[in-house]
Formats: sequence, C-alpha cells, structure tokens
Amino acid sequence: MSSFQQLGLSRPMLTNLERLGYKTPTPVQTSAIPPVMAGRDVIAMAKTGSGKTAAFGIGLLEHLNVRHFAVQGLILCPTRELADQVAKALRELARAQANVKILTLCGGVAIGPQIGSLSHGAHVVVGTPGRIQDHLRKGTLSLEHLRTLVLDEADRMLDMGFQEAMDDIIARIPGQRQTLLFSATWPASIRSLSESYQREPVDVRVTDGEPAPDIQETFYEIQPGQQTDALAAVLSDRQPASCLAFCTTRQQCDELAAALGERGFSAVALHGDLDQKDRDAVLVRFANQSVTVLVATDVAARGLDIKALPLVINVEPARDSEIHTHRVGRTGRAGEQGEAVTFCTPSQGHRVSRLEVGRDAPLSWGDAVALMAVPDRPRPPAMRTLCIAGGRKEKVRPGDILGALTGEAGVPGAAVGKIDLFDFQCFVAIEASLASKALRQLEQGRIKGRKFRVRLA
Ligand code: AMP
Repeated sequence: MSSFQQLGLSRPMLTNLERLGYKTPTPVQTSAIPPVMAGRDVIAMAKTGSGKTAAFGIGLLEHLNVRHFAVQGLILCPTRELADQVAKALRELARAQANVKILTLCGGVAIGPQIGSLSHGAHVVVGTPGRIQDHLRKGTLSLEHLRTLVLDEADRMLDMGFQEAMDDIIARIPGQRQTLLFSATWPASIRSLSESYQREPVDVRVTDGEPAPDIQETFYEIQPGQQTDALAAVLSDRQPASCLAFCTTRQQCDELAAALGERGFSAVALHGDLDQKDRDAVLVRFANQSVTVLVATDVAARGLDIKALPLVINVEPARDSEIHTHRVGRTGRAGEQGEAVTFCTPSQGHRVSRLEVGRDAPLSWGDAVALMAVPDRPRPPAMRTLCIAGGRKEKVRPGDILGALTGEAGVPGAAVGKIDLFDFQCFVAIEASLASKALRQLEQGRIKGRKFRVRLA
C-alpha cells in the first residue's frame, strides 16, 4: 500500500490531506498523481467516488504559480452540479496554499456576475463547455497562460454533444500544456479524443480494489401503454425509499410523473426544459428524501450526485448497452446492494437482445402478469421540504435556520434533515409528521432577526 508521502507532494499539501482525513491514496490517486506531478498527460478510467478529483487536483494545485494571477488550470465538466462539486473539492485541497482563486463558470446562471469575477482574476477555472466558450468568444476569459487542461467525465461530455465546444476551446489553448482526461467508460470516441489532444498519455486504468457492484437486474415484458401501471406495480412491490426512473422523452417524463402523482405516488419529472431554479428544487427534494421517484431523461440525470439509490427503473430499454450500463450503475454504489428493473414491449425486444451481448449469464426475466396484479401501495416520503425565500445573499446560514426551527419548543433537531442553501433561497428537509409544525414555527419566528417567506415545496 502506498502513502501520500511516497507520491512526492509538498509538506503543506501533505498536512492538508491529513487534515481532510485522506489517510491513504485511492488506487486511481496512486497511479495518476506521480505522472500528473511529473507534468505528463494522463488518461484515466475513473468514476465518481474513486477519488478522481484529487487524482488530478493535487498535481494541478501543486503546479500553480500563485503569484502569477492568470488562469493556469481549466477543468471542463459536463454539468453544473459536477463543476460545483469539483470546485468545492479543489478549494478544500487548496487550503494549504494562500490565496488560490478557483472560479466556476457554468451555464444556467447570469453571465454578468461571472464577467465581474473574472475581471478580478483566477488561477483555476471549473466550468461547462458551453459557458467557457461564451466567455472565450466575448474575450472575458483568457487561456493564454493555461498549463493544465482537465476533461472530467469526458465520456459524458461527448454523450451530451460537447465535442464541438471542446474542440473550439482546445483550439484556443496553448499547445504546450498538460492534458488530463478522465472518463468512466472507455468507448472508441474517448480513445480518439485522447489521440487528438494528448501527447503520449500515461494510461491509468484501475479496477482493482473496486468491489464489483452488487446489482440485481430484472426484465419484464409488458404491452405498449402499460408503462405507468408497471411502474406503479414495481414501486408498490419493492417499496424503495428512492427510485430513479428513466424515460426517453421530456413529454414521457411529465406524463409519467403526473400519472404516478394522481395515484398517490410521490414523483417528479426532471428534464432539460426545467430552468435552473426548478432543477435545483427538484434535485434537492429528491436528494433529501421528500420525493420518492424521480422520472428523468438520460441527459437530465447526468451529474446527479445521489449515492446509493436502491432502485433504478428503465421505463424503456436504453438504445445501447453503454447508456444502459450508465443508468444501472446508479444503483448498487458504494458496496450497497442495488436493483435495476427494465420494461420492454415486444417491439423493443431488439434493444434488449443487444444488452445480452457480452454478458456472462442470460438476462433474468420476471413474471409480468404477477407484477401487474400488485395493487397500488404508494410509499409516502420520509421527509417534506420547506422552502425559505432567503439564502446566501441575505447571509443566511444553516445554523441560523436550525436555530429558528428548534428554538422555543420548536421541532427537535433530530427531525431536521438536509439544509440546502442557494443564493436567494434555501431548502430544509423536515420529518414529514413535523413539517406543519416546522412551517408554523418559521412563519411566526425570525431568521437572523428577519422575516422570510416560507412555504412547503
Ligand atoms: P471523487 O471521486 O473525486 O468524487 O471523490 C469521492 C470522495 O472521496 C470525496 O468526498 C473525497 O473528498 C473523498 N476522497 C478522495 N480521496 C480520498 C482519500 N485518499 N482518502 C479519503 N477520502 C478521499
């Protein structure tokens, strides 16, 4: 087993890693940090949870010349959620170095404030390709001093159609640079991306040490038009605390979520038509367990950071086995058992046959007739979400909200779940049975001496 000391890191970085509780490097860190530190290009196969952010982030930060106030590192990510996570992790890793400025530049929010932040300078930029391209076109971002480019979740960026944007961005970056490519899967398109943009990359593929996910997969043959009934039946039968159901179109997401809602299930749709504010609200409510079923398109579900989902349902079989693997891989994470269910109509059989290729065992088919006989038994969500019309910009902090909720015979602290703070609003999960009491408490009381509008989401 290696240690961080053996990887050639600076003393302040080592002390900071210790403080962060990173005792031993993960497999991808052990293999990637030395070449990254040596300035080599690296292509790494690594998923979220493998420690990949530190695998590229540590070397990137160690190479920064903090006194040179120019963008020296750029990390391209497929989604805003991932960019936010990466920036947060980098800020923690950078704590040992004084005054490292890390900026996120993503779409879905106003560009004006980003231009303002850029004018103050930054050492590292984390962002989504579309918005980075916008800034390059406007001339508000300069990459002429860039030393390290990271393509994070490169396979997802390609899936999401960012190839052209990436080409355009990379064309504006100095050729003399280090390029680090991270991808969860290894299709030909990733290999050709590497060939286009990397120089003799060190190939880091770690599979050792990662336990094979424990996922039970079942397929059901259903008739066209039975999707809602089949979904309701699986939910009633399995009673998952959380479930992600994949659809192909936005319209199908909306229709299914509405139909489930009418039957008493707690379900919401997530798709690309939602604006950022609604998307935030949906993701927060799903992650804090006040919504049980998220009905999503593949694209909308990218970058979703929800660990250990007990159940994933494919309302239709995915078009290819890579998408199927991506979907199913969202359950059974972190060594926990997961379950994946796929519905298939007779005319979709060819898609399922494609999934069969390369598997060790035949697909396992369930009894659809028995399934359809299961009566509706919606599982109510454990939590409800209070939405407070005040956030970071009003200097509201989680502690203030917790204080307002639990003070003066309010709700017990144990009944308060996740608190998600945004610029202008805040979401608080409360045990469902105490949600009305919590609402009254906040309506009557004050947060930081101020009254804010509060409602149940
Ligand atoms: P990532 O795969 O980059 O999303 O990282 C997954 C999680 O593991 C993050 O919460 C990191 O803070 C944490 N982490 C990364 N490397 C280590 C390590 N060597 N030891 C302990 N935790 C780590």
